[in-house]
Amino acid sequence: MNIIRDAHKLKDALTLHNEAGKRIGFVPTMGALHRGHTALIDWAQEFCDVCVASIFVNPRQFNDSNDLVKYPRSEEKDVALLAEHGCHYVFIPTVDEIYPDDRVLRFDLGEFDKPMEGKFRPGHFHGMAEVVYRLFKIVAPHDAFFGEKDYQQLMIIKHLVKTEQLPVSIHAVTIQRENDGLAISSRNQHLKPEERAEAPMIYDTLRKLSKQIPEKSVSDIQSAFVDEMKLYRYLNTEYISVVDNDTMKKIKHWKESNHTRICVAVWCGKTRLIDNIELRV
Ligand code: AMP
Repeated sequence: MNIIRDAHKLKDALTLHNEAGKRIGFVPTMGALHRGHTALIDWAQEFCDVCVASIFVNPRQFNDSNDLVKYPRSEEKDVALLAEHGCHYVFIPTVDEIYPDDRVLRFDLGEFDKPMEGKFRPGHFHGMAEVVYRLFKIVAPHDAFFGEKDYQQLMIIKHLVKTEQLPVSIHAVTIQRENDGLAISSRNQHLKPEERAEAPMIYDTLRKLSKQIPEKSVSDIQSAFVDEMKLYRYLNTEYISVVDNDTMKKIKHWKESNHTRICVAVWCGKTRLIDNIELRV
């Protein structure tokens, strides 16, 4: 596997593959890699001829500077894991390589960035969209792979690709979970043992409630989730939203959409966890 830190070098290498008619698949990450990320790499491998991953902790998408400082970094381990999964190139740029000056690129994110994560993490999605756009310009992939774990992010990328007419297909990969159902996340390593023991209740509750639809109304499902979290010492709901799977518009009644998703953010002690579940009513 080639480790490249310079954008021009990566562009040159990938241009050769492109000219040889190879299909380039791209997986952007912020490192601290786990089975959630390697599932994306495996898909890119399956689908494309050349697999490129990036590791870049993007300062412009952190609205909380403490979160940026705390973000786990494990480059050596990440590189080994990518190589093990047959990744061909890993791009590990510096902040200056991605942002050579103070210029900020702004995109129309429609209504996608307003609710949920957008409301609680102001500016996060504009920073995320900017880095993905800049990375797409460098890598010029045919396909890019994103996890449904960050469902709102995935929808924003799809919207960005459409409005900016970027020649890349976006692929969604299902959420990878621990055996007890907890969605795998680099943030899970911040959980204390007693918090880790309660964290699986987030998905457990989502699954349990999803079986009570449509008998239970949208608002009953939302309040039942909040009430259930209150039974646990370390769990605290930040939001629970029931949205249309494609438009991400909130729904009030099941009849408004036959393909929905329940998205939640729950604090587990001092760690903020997100999860979601797909529903076909
Ligand atoms: P991150 O490094 O957190 O920015 O994530 C990089 C990519 O990995 C994003 O597309 C995430 O949605 C995806 N991802 C992270 N965790 C998981 C997971 N548990 N299952 C599926 N995809 C994931």
